[in-house]
Amino acid sequence: MPEQHPVRIGAESVTTEESMVVTSPYDGHEVARVPKCGPEHVEAAVAAAKAAMAEPLEPWKRAEVLDAAAQSVADHRDELATIIAEEAAKPIKTARTEAERAVLTFQSAAIEARTLTGDVVPIDGAQPGSGKLAFTLRVPRGVVAAISPFNFPLNLVAHKLAPAIAAGCAVVLKPASQTPISAIRLHELLMDECGLPAGWINIVTGSGGTVGDPLVEHEDVAVITFTGSPPVGWAIAAKGAKKKVGLELGNNAPVIIDASGDWETAVAKIAVAGFSHAGQSCISTQRIYVHSSLVDRFTEALVAKVEALVVGDPLDEATDVSALISPDETARVKAWIDEAVGEGATVATGGDQHDRLLTPTILTGITADMEVSRNEVFGPLVGIASFDDLDDALALANDTRYGLQAAIFTAELDGALRAAHELDFGGVLVNEVPTFRSDQMPYGGVRDSGNTKEGPHYAVREMTHERLVVINR
Ligand code: NAP
Repeated sequence: MPEQHPVRIGAESVTTEESMVVTSPYDGHEVARVPKCGPEHVEAAVAAAKAAMAEPLEPWKRAEVLDAAAQSVADHRDELATIIAEEAAKPIKTARTEAERAVLTFQSAAIEARTLTGDVVPIDGAQPGSGKLAFTLRVPRGVVAAISPFNFPLNLVAHKLAPAIAAGCAVVLKPASQTPISAIRLHELLMDECGLPAGWINIVTGSGGTVGDPLVEHEDVAVITFTGSPPVGWAIAAKGAKKKVGLELGNNAPVIIDASGDWETAVAKIAVAGFSHAGQSCISTQRIYVHSSLVDRFTEALVAKVEALVVGDPLDEATDVSALISPDETARVKAWIDEAVGEGATVATGGDQHDRLLTPTILTGITADMEVSRNEVFGPLVGIASFDDLDDALALANDTRYGLQAAIFTAELDGALRAAHELDFGGVLVNEVPTFRSDQMPYGGVRDSGNTKEGPHYAVREMTHERLVVINR
């Protein structure tokens, strides 16, 4: 029987009698075995994190660890990319980009560790503060429970660990059960190559119900940082009433191509943004609203680009699109396509299932009440609808319970400013796809898409609180 890849809790390498088997979403082969942790491991991990925080890391030391982490991830880029490709079926070239992005995430967090500070409070600007000096200190809130999804198994883990280290908070991480190896390997690098002392990061592998529930309910956990689906996220928020809970959730990202918009640039970008990692990104471009004067040219050009995407083995350098995370997910997306067709949409290209692969799909004539418009597809699918009036396009884009990122292509300043003011999303992109993210920027949604902003500068502020200090002169 293959050996289990241990996780580290405190200074211990932990294995368990039973294993969780990680398999390739592409062809089902066994990638690795990891421990099947239980509530007792959660208990040990939270205790290790609490003990670590009893000996605080000074900011300069946090910055040193984070700088070393950026270097270590860069040095191990190809190894980490191969792990991501194997466990998530992310095409290797996209997986390499994810590893490179994680370098920036650690670099940005190192800057935060070096510069994190409170404010001087102008307390003597009002009579009651006369004769006093006041300022705030940024204080770590406490142990962070981090729960991460399958789709960016390295960089979204980095987006939780890096700011926590910068903030001076120890972490218990529960990675997605389908993709735990990237996180486990990153943790080993942090401890073995980057000088992170034992206990500051601890990993528990196991299902959401078995280890996730006791982790979010643990009384010694002060902060929960969760990225994943809305139902799981909001249920966690309901359980964590006394904790600081940050949720990064789903989306059905819209993009508007106005009559004046550079539609050819939009086509080139959407051919990537709608299909990268088979559309399994929370900001995958999903709903496309194109001005009626452009829609035929736009659709024809997008079909040509999408038909040129290479579908296949994630470890093949040529592959652009590989399998979805599970056969069930492939079947779900295929069913949504068939349902939309039954309701009047047309398949312009794709829509074919070959075992675990789904060919990149463009639907035209989508309407607002179809599942492919209303919900998060999380598959290699975009839908196109046309509009005549920008008012209608803005209303269609806003007709969703999600609110992560939205975009418009327009050459008109008025259109750009209207989009910025009227699109009810956490981020609005102009002449860029809604799928754009640079790791230092504030990133997060409103309404069902979440309640926080990630990006190290912002996440560090969520993981610390401001302690007011008043001194009587
Ligand atoms: P998911 O099913 O919600 O799982 C996310 C994490 O939650 C996994 O680690 C999962 O563990 C864990 N979990 C499940 N039940 C739990 C419970 N009762 N208590 C605690 N943890 C629990 O999401 P996913 O399928 O991995 O990821 C896809 C979703 O993530 C999409 O909706 C996508 O839009 C969203 N996402 C959002 C962002 C963003 O930044 N806004 C980024 C990426 C992805 P198991 O794996 O063991 O079930």
